[in-house]
Amino acid sequence: MISDPKLAPSGDLPSLPGRAGSKTKRAFAALEREIVSCRRCPRLVAWRQRAAENPPRRFRGETYWARPLPAFGDPAARVLVVGLAPAAHGGNRTGRIFTGDESGNFLFRALHATGFANRPESVRAGDGLALSRALLSAACRCAPPNNRPTPEEFENCREYLVRELALLRPRAVLVALGALAFETCVKVLAQKGERIPRPRPRFRHGARYRIGSHVLLAAYHPSQQNTFTGKLTQGMLRDVLRRARREAEARAATS
Ligand code: SF4
Repeated sequence: MISDPKLAPSGDLPSLPGRAGSKTKRAFAALEREIVSCRRCPRLVAWRQRAAENPPRRFRGETYWARPLPAFGDPAARVLVVGLAPAAHGGNRTGRIFTGDESGNFLFRALHATGFANRPESVRAGDGLALSRALLSAACRCAPPNNRPTPEEFENCREYLVRELALLRPRAVLVALGALAFETCVKVLAQKGERIPRPRPRFRHGARYRIGSHVLLAAYHPSQQNTFTGKLTQGMLRDVLRRARREAEARAATS
């Protein structure tokens, strides 16, 4: 299990339990260290720190993570769930992806209901949450202003997702949460050398694309705008995650 960087003593990441081999765990740990010290995007480096220095009243007194977020989950996964970016007072505060805001609460409920998470909520580092057979990551690892990275920032950050995918089991199933994550996933697969179908895959909730040796599934992002309005329900998200599980199991059975 890829652990919480906040638990690590003196900046070192803890060893990674789970079913992955020690070589994979070491590679993930090295990548995590690289990600959490990244400062490639000056605007985001400034923003993540500014958010930490100006917390809303309910978070005053908390020590913010205020650094990039590595992936969280099972390094031996065959399902890669990709979000957009951490929220300024969510992941940027807690140090764990999709943790500390309503989007994360919604997502982890669905991950638990579909058997990927051992708990229905992600509270903070050290809360005992673990994912099995899924790795949770993002297109951009730093909290952006207005939840919107620039094209250059997406570009800067994509390399990390490419490298995470390369460390997972072969022929992984990708689940993109939202149109921007979907576009990043297509670019990641292209960068990996997979042939992108023509016409180019387009985001639509529930869509499934076979891209080279991978499958890409699309779901609406669990933003409050989508979940509070009913555009994305628990049932809709769970359907996509169940489908990802079935696809991954079928792939495991034939590998
Ligand atoms: S967004 Fe990605 S590339 Fe940019 S500073 Fe953060 S971790 Fe680095």
